[in-house]
Amino acid sequence: MNWQFLGNRPHNQGEGFQNRWRRCLGGSVAALLAIAFQSLGLLDPLERLAYIALFQQRGHRAWDERIVLVAIDQAAIAELEANNWDRQQYVKLLETLALGQPQVVVLNIVLQKPTPDDPELAQALQKNFASVLAVAWNQDGQIFQAAPEIRQAVAAQGHIVKQEDRDGLTRHIVPEINATPALGVAAVETYLQQSSLKKLPSSLWINWPSSAADLTTYSFKDVIDGRIDPAVFRHKIVLVGTTAVGFAPVQTPFDLEPPASDIHLHAALIDNLLQDNLLLAGTYRGAIAVLLYFLLGVGTSLAFGCIAVRSQIALVLLLSCGWGVAVIAAFQAQILFPLSTPIVVILSAAAIATLQDRLSLDATLQQQENLINHQTLYDSLTGLPNRALFMQYLKIAADPTGLYGAMTFAVLFLDLDRFKAINAHRGHQIGDRLLAAIAQRLQQWVATQSNHFVDRPPILARFGSDEFTLLLYNIADIDAAIAIAQEIDSLFVSSFVIDAQEIFSSVSIGIAWSHNTTARETLDLPALATFDQPESILRNAEIAMYQAKVQGKARYAIFNSNLHQNAIALLQLETDLRQAVGQNQTFPLTSSTSVKTAIASSTATTFNLEHQDLLLNREFRVYYQPIVSLTTGKIMGFEALIRWQHPQRGLISPVEFIPLAEETGLITILGEWVLRQACEQLAQWHQEILYGSQLMMTVNLSPAQLKQPDLTEIIAKILQKTQLDPSKLKLEITESGLMDSIDLAVSLLQRLTQLGLQLSIDDFGIGYSSLGRLQHLPFNTLKIDQSFVRWMGFEQESLEIVQTIVTLAHNLGMNVVAEGIEALEQLSQLREFNCDYGQGYLFSRPVDAIAATTLLNADPQW
Ligand code: C2E
Ligand code: MG
Ligand code: MG
Repeated sequence: MNWQFLGNRPHNQGEGFQNRWRRCLGGSVAALLAIAFQSLGLLDPLERLAYIALFQQRGHRAWDERIVLVAIDQAAIAELEANNWDRQQYVKLLETLALGQPQVVVLNIVLQKPTPDDPELAQALQKNFASVLAVAWNQDGQIFQAAPEIRQAVAAQGHIVKQEDRDGLTRHIVPEINATPALGVAAVETYLQQSSLKKLPSSLWINWPSSAADLTTYSFKDVIDGRIDPAVFRHKIVLVGTTAVGFAPVQTPFDLEPPASDIHLHAALIDNLLQDNLLLAGTYRGAIAVLLYFLLGVGTSLAFGCIAVRSQIALVLLLSCGWGVAVIAAFQAQILFPLSTPIVVILSAAAIATLQDRLSLDATLQQQENLINHQTLYDSLTGLPNRALFMQYLKIAADPTGLYGAMTFAVLFLDLDRFKAINAHRGHQIGDRLLAAIAQRLQQWVATQSNHFVDRPPILARFGSDEFTLLLYNIADIDAAIAIAQEIDSLFVSSFVIDAQEIFSSVSIGIAWSHNTTARETLDLPALATFDQPESILRNAEIAMYQAKVQGKARYAIFNSNLHQNAIALLQLETDLRQAVGQNQTFPLTSSTSVKTAIASSTATTFNLEHQDLLLNREFRVYYQPIVSLTTGKIMGFEALIRWQHPQRGLISPVEFIPLAEETGLITILGEWVLRQACEQLAQWHQEILYGSQLMMTVNLSPAQLKQPDLTEIIAKILQKTQLDPSKLKLEITESGLMDSIDLAVSLLQRLTQLGLQLSIDDFGIGYSSLGRLQHLPFNTLKIDQSFVRWMGFEQESLEIVQTIVTLAHNLGMNVVAEGIEALEQLSQLREFNCDYGQGYLFSRPVDAIAATTLLNADPQW
C-alpha cells in the first residue's frame, strides 16, 4: 500500500459531521482501552519506572534534622528474642532516651498482649517526653491495643496501616482510620502540641526525602548498652521501630533492594508534615481522571483528522513528550501526575485514528470502485444493466460449460418506434424521461416474472439509445419466447404520462432463441454445437427486430435464415453503394461529423465535384416524371427521381437503396448530385424547349440533407451556376422526414424560401402531422400520398380524405399535387375536387432525360 499520497493530504477542514463523530468515538475507545489497561495493572511497570525516575531525577534531600531513628535491627531482635521479648528492654530504652530529653518518642511497636511489666513501661513512657504508640488492626478489623495503663501513659496513638500499590511501591498513607490518625500525623501533632493539623487530604502522598540510610539512625542495642550519648536525642522526635530485613518492608524510590521499613514511611510522613511538602496527587484516579482521559483521547483523535500524516506523527511525539515534560515540571512543584496512562491514551487514540483513516480510505476507494463499476456496467439514465453487462450475462448463458450449463435461452431485441420523432417534437428531456418510464415499466414486468422463471428472472438491459434487450432463461421452445414478446408488446398499449403529456410509444421486437434450428442451419453450425455464440444470437435478434420494423413496426419478428440472408444482402448492398458513390471507407451509421468532413472535403474543389460527378454518372441516373396541370392538362414540370444501374443486379429502385443511403450518410452526396443534374437539365429545357421557360423541377430532399449545415449554400451555388430562376425549383420533403427533424427544419425552410425556392410536402396523409401543424411552415405545395389516390375508386373514405385535404390545403394557401394517378376516373375525380396538379403512370412513368425531352417536344395535353 502506498501511503505516500496520504502525506500530501491537505488539511481536511471540511470533514463531515459523521466523520468527526466517528473520530470522537475512536478517541473514547482509546481512553477506555487505556483505563482498562490501567485497571488490569498492565501499565503498572511503566508507572513504577516513572515514579522512581521522578524521584531519582529530583535527587536526594536531607531528612528533617528533628527526626532520629532508633532501629530495632537484627542485633536488637536477637537481644529481644533472647530475653523472650520482655518489655524491660523497652523500659531500658525509654529510660536511656529520657536522659537525653527528647521531645517526642514514637514507638512503632504494637504492644497488644498485657504483661506484668506494663505498669513499669507506662511509667517509663511519660518520663521527660511525650510518647506516641502504634495501633494496628487485624484483617477482621479487630484492634491490637496496649493495656489501659499504657494507653493512658501515651500522649497519642497512631495507626500504622500502610498501602502498598500493585507495583510494590508505597506512595501514600491514609491520614486517619477509625478516628485514629496515622502514626506520623499523631507524632507531629504531639510534637507541635496541636490537637489536629490543618485539614489533611484523604490520602497523604509521601514526598520521599532520601534513602533510609540517610536518616540519622542509632542501633537499639547501642542505645540501651549506653554506647550512645543521650544528648543526641535532645528535643528530637525519636522513632523506635524495626529495620531488620523481612519486617514490614517498604519499597521507596530510593530503597528498592533492599527495601526500607515501615518506620521509614512514618519518618517520611513526619518529615513531610514538618516541612509541609507532602505531594499533591494530580487527578491520579477517579472520575476526574477518567473524564480527562476521555477528553485527551477525543482531542487527539479530532486533531488527527485535521492534519497531514507527517504532522500526525509529530503530534503524537509532541503530545507524549509534552506530557512527560509536564509531569516532570509538575513534580518540581510537588504535584504528582501519572505518566503512562495519558501516553497510552494518546498512542491508542493515534492508532485508532490511523486505523479509522485507513478503513475510511479503503471504504472510499471501494465506493469509488463500485461507482466506476456501476458506471461502466449500468446505464445512468435508466439504472438498467448496459450493453457491456448484458453481454457478460449473455456470455455466461451461452457457455455450455458455464453456470447455466445446457439451459436454453432467448434474446429479445426491443427498439422503440419513432423515438427520434419524439425527441425532435418534444425535446430530448422528454425523450429521456420517456425512456426512463419505459425502462421502469419493463422492469416492473421483469419483477413480476421472477416466479415464472424459477431458476433466474430475465435480464433487462438498455442496449443503446432507444434499444432494450431481454435475456430470457429456460425458454423451452420458441412459442414461449413469442408469448413473452406479445406480453412486452402489450405493455405499450397504455400511454406514458410525462409532464402531464400523454405519449404513446410502440416497440419492434426481434426474437432469437438459442435452439433456433433454422438459425443453426443458416450459420452452418455442426449438429452438436447446441449453443450459438452470444454475439451471433444478439445479432440475430437485432436482424429480426429490423424485420419487425420493415413489416410495419409495433410488432415482433422471429429470426430465421431468410432474415439472415436479407441481412447479408443488405450488407452487400451497402458495400456496393459505397463503391458506386466512391466512398469505400466505412462511415459511422449516422451522419456524424466525420461523414460531414469527408463530404465537405470531397466537395471542397471544383475538381472534386467533377470527379464526383464522373463517379456517380457511372451507375446512377436521374429519371424525370412529368407533373401535369389538371386545369390546362399540360406538363407544368417534372419530378427528378434517382435510379441506380447496378452492374450485376440491374436497375435498383430508390425504395431499396435510399433508406440505406440515408442510414450511411451517403445520401448527402447522392442528393446533391441529383440536384445538380436536375437543375442543369431544367436550365437546358428552359433554353431548348419552345414553351419551356415556365417548366418547374421538383427534387426530393431527404431528412439527412436537412441536417447538412451548408445545404442552403450548396443550393445557392447550383442555382448560380445554372442561372436558374429559383422559383422554378421546388424541393420536396416527405412528411415523416420533416417531423423527424422539425426543430432543424423550421429555420432551414425559412432560409430556403429566402433563396426564392418553392417547397413541397411529399407523401402527405400517411405521416403523423396535421394540417394545423403545417400552416406555420412555408410550404407552397402539398402532395397527397399515392395510396389515397389508389383507393379513391374503391373506398369512400379515401375519396373523402382526398377531398378534405384539397380543400384544407387551398384554405392554407397551398396548391395540391395528387400522386399515383393511373386511371382516367381518378383524373376526372381529382379535377372535380379542384386538385391543381397530377402525377402518375397515366401521364408518364419516370423516364430518362432523352425520353422526357421527346415528351416535352410532343407537348401532350390530358
Ligand atoms: P416519391 O418522392 O413519392 O416519388 C414518387 C414515387 O411514386 C416514384 O417512385 C414514382 O415512380 C412513383 N409513381 C409515380 N406515379 C406512380 C403511379 O401512377 N403508380 C405507382 N405505383 N407509382 C408511381 P420511385 O421513383 O421508385 O421513388 C420512390 C421514392 O424514393 C420517392 O418517392 C422518393 O421518396 C425517393 N426518391 C427517389 N429519388 C430520390 C432522390 O433523388 N432523393 C431522395 N431523397 N429521395 C428520392
Ligand atoms: Mg417525391
Ligand atoms: Mg411521394
